[in-house]
Amino acid sequence: MANKKHQVVFIGGGSGTMMGASQLLRYNKGGKLDVAIIEPSETHYYQPEWTLVGGGIKSKPSTAKPMKDVLPKAATWIKDYVEDIDPDNNNITLRSGDVIEYEYLVVAPGVEYRLDLIEGLTEAMGKNGVCSNYMDPDYTWELLQNFKGGTALYTQPTTQIKCPGAPQKIMYITADHIRGNGVVKDTNMVFATPGSVVFGVEPFKSELVRIINDKYDIAQRYGYKLVKVDGPNKIATYERADLPEGSNHVVNDPNNKINETQNGDRYEIKYDMMHLAPPQSAPRWFMKTKLANQDGPNVGWMAVDKFSMQSTKYSNVFGLGDVTDLPTAKTGAGIRKQAPVVVTNILNFIDGKEISDMKYSGYASCPLVTSKHTMLLAEFGYDGVRMTDPMLPKWLTAKERWLMWIMKRYILGNLYWLLMRRGIRF
Ligand SMILES: Cc1cc2nc3c(=O)[nH]c(=O)nc-3n(C[C@H](O)[C@H](O)[C@H](O)COP(=O)(O)OP(=O)(O)OC[C@H]3O[C@@H](n4cnc5c(N)ncnc54)[C@H](O)[C@@H]3O)c2cc1C
Repeated sequence: MANKKHQVVFIGGGSGTMMGASQLLRYNKGGKLDVAIIEPSETHYYQPEWTLVGGGIKSKPSTAKPMKDVLPKAATWIKDYVEDIDPDNNNITLRSGDVIEYEYLVVAPGVEYRLDLIEGLTEAMGKNGVCSNYMDPDYTWELLQNFKGGTALYTQPTTQIKCPGAPQKIMYITADHIRGNGVVKDTNMVFATPGSVVFGVEPFKSELVRIINDKYDIAQRYGYKLVKVDGPNKIATYERADLPEGSNHVVNDPNNKINETQNGDRYEIKYDMMHLAPPQSAPRWFMKTKLANQDGPNVGWMAVDKFSMQSTKYSNVFGLGDVTDLPTAKTGAGIRKQAPVVVTNILNFIDGKEISDMKYSGYASCPLVTSKHTMLLAEFGYDGVRMTDPMLPKWLTAKERWLMWIMKRYILGNLYWLLMRRGIRF
């Protein structure tokens, strides 16, 4: 057991740390900073492109880079797992038993997939037609290529999930794909969600309502909470989800195409292929630390001030990315706007100054791929307010467009690897 100390420690080597640590080292105007990153994986993936991998548009290896080339060279990479954080004593315990001390801590270990929260899902995932772009997009593409018709079910859990638009993106890619290969006439597609609407923010909501109904004729189930997956018999079982006041458990299936059976207060949908986002929580080891919310709707997620990203409990600790309890969507695009706030605040503290008045606006963006050649870029901030990146005119992002598809297919990944990886703000 060794004790080492670093000035700033980042937990995780994903998108949050890649942007946060590289910006910290780039924008530090003072002396040399001692930055360490704790990350166990050898490979860093640009996860937003897994939607394209699932649709057969990109290969999984093209979304990956060796971790050593992604983390800033000036930082010390500690290749281990964090098992505990003791914020009262400013230290972290690793799986190896080593203890790392810090002056400032940035927590960015992302989410943990929780198949255990839905009965039968652990056994069902990855076989017999059950796939997830979140876990194995190559299997999604395999299923899509072999799909000969029947019911294709697209669904998501009641937990918070990263990139909440991702379950819809692969649905629209499927709908486009089966039009192209003639399987469409033998297919019934269904979208089942615990939510009450297809998307919460206008004008994206209206555009998606048009796409799901008029363009693709996809049957919908709102207020549906997935409780069980029977892999061998290909049955997904739902109960009614709690919905906001004024919303209803709605079945939008005008042609009554979906093979659904009511069994008491449960609804069973027979599928031939199912894509789902797995249930997600903060990593279980993190949920036990003092940095996590101990109760309430955000139990387990990291408690941060939604504007400064500072822990609400320890002033030398900040959160970045998916692990936080920010009341906005968990996206890499959001981290692009969070990282400058965290970095500025830590540099201020190191300089002996107060916390800065920079504020994270809740900005998140969801590039909703709506076919193999169109995309709708939904951008929004806290309280569901529509936002637009200053580089993009509003009219361009209000509808699905080929130009936006070009951005998703060819530009966003390059911005990630070329600019964000180097800590360049834009
Ligand atoms: C299918 C899919 C599509 C998506 N599409 C988009 C999109 O179009 N646009 C968008 O903006 N976002 C999208 N996202 C979301 C985006 O990828 C995440 O929001 C982003 O990666 C979150 O960054 P993070 O650093 O919080 O977590 P991650 O990038 O997941 O990184 C977490 C890191 O922590 C490490 N870690 C885990 N446990 C430990 C531990 N115990 N100790 C140390 N390290 C640990 C992991 O190995 C990992 O490297 C998508 C995600 C998926 C899965």
